[in-house]
Amino acid sequence: MTDNRAETDELALTQQVYSEDPLADRETGHYRKEYVKAFVDKWDELIDWRGRAESEGQFFIDILRARGKERVLDVACGTGFHSVRLTEAGFDVTAADGSANMVAKAFENGKRRGLILKTTQADWRWLNRDIAGKYDAIVCLGNSFTHLHEESDRRRALAEFYAALKHDGLLILDQRNYDAMLDNGFSTKHKYYYCGDQVTAEPSHVDEGLCRMVYSFPDGSEYTLNMCPIRKNYMRRLLQEAGFERVRTYGDFQETYAEDEPDFFIHVAEKS
Ligand code: SAM
Repeated sequence: MTDNRAETDELALTQQVYSEDPLADRETGHYRKEYVKAFVDKWDELIDWRGRAESEGQFFIDILRARGKERVLDVACGTGFHSVRLTEAGFDVTAADGSANMVAKAFENGKRRGLILKTTQADWRWLNRDIAGKYDAIVCLGNSFTHLHEESDRRRALAEFYAALKHDGLLILDQRNYDAMLDNGFSTKHKYYYCGDQVTAEPSHVDEGLCRMVYSFPDGSEYTLNMCPIRKNYMRRLLQEAGFERVRTYGDFQETYAEDEPDFFIHVAEKS
């Protein structure tokens, strides 16, 4: 199937598509069958922009400003939360995502806040085909990278991110604390990221190759995402092997933390 055909399919879908055995759906391109319009329309209920802004504070803005970064590519813009925040904070942001539904929603959300976001639809595996120029920083947030189910795609996406950065560029990429989930079972402080208190987000299945998350909304609707539960040190190694020279990993926005405490890890990787 060509890339354009996948896009058409995604826009035409009204329901998420899984095979007869959804636990077998472990393919990188599957995200396009998951982010159907109905789920995308509900995404902001799940993340609750105000709660999320309060809980993460100035973390990303401070990191980018401290290193003098200006031109930022949000490669997993989703509904636009970070693209909007960073634009409002004065950065020159491009909002990209592989899902046409997400890109459209991000543009709409920007417009509602008086912004005309620069948007583009781009799958990370072919990122440099669809974006122009080099960036000071790339952000890939909200556990997005763990949509990549195959290691070759993870390496390929990181190579594309690396190539899209200027020589001293910065990549900020986050992930759920899957180590804790795989080793101790699921628990969440529900304090960061998914802040909507009316929505539950929890795994229905976890094994070394799959974390299937279920999102249940107050109107009774339910959506799922099949993610790949990559471990923290594995992710750090991939970043180093992609060529990033320094990788610092924060736990729930803190520099020091007990390994099984954080819900999320945030990797800050420097190209040089
Ligand atoms: N960053 C947003 C947030 O935090 O609210 C969205 C997070 S959502 C969990 C993951 C996003 O990654 C989706 O918008 C999805 O379309 C995008 N995505 C997943 N795989 C992708 C790929 N291979 N290329 C481009 N975007 C992808």
